Amino acid sequence: MSTVRTWWNLLNGSTVLGLLIAVASRTTLRPGPRGTLLAQGYTWGFPNGGAITIGNVILVRPGVRCTEALLRHEDRHVSQYAFCLGLPFLILYAVSVAVSLAVCGDTASANPFERAAGLADGGYRAHPPRWRRTHRRIST
Ligand SMILES: [Zn+2]
Repeated sequence: MSTVRTWWNLLNGSTVLGLLIAVASRTTLRPGPRGTLLAQGYTWGFPNGGAITIGNVILVRPGVRCTEALLRHEDRHVSQYAFCLGLPFLILYAVSVAVSLAVCGDTASANPFERAAGLADGGYRAHPPRWRRTHRRIST
């Protein structure tokens, strides 16, 4: 299955975009699990996060350890690119980030892509929607 996914993400252009960014940002490429490519040393300011997946390319910031959990999380994003026909994932993901920011105040808690990829595996802490938060009263 990962071979089909690898070829599909190559054909739909998402892995090509990931490779262009990996090369332009002067990362070091090496093979990762299940047809992924690990691009170590990604230092561009956008987007934030310890690891960013584009197609089958996982851009990893300096000092970030590629733990089993992190790779499992990013691998799910690779599959999401395939299901979203490649580059449309970026638009759907950006909309999901905006919704999550509005609802929970962070980029992941209400983002269906991050939730499906596993918040804890990605190093995220889930926050409830703003309207369900309890606020402590400070008594004087
Ligand atoms: Zn993620």
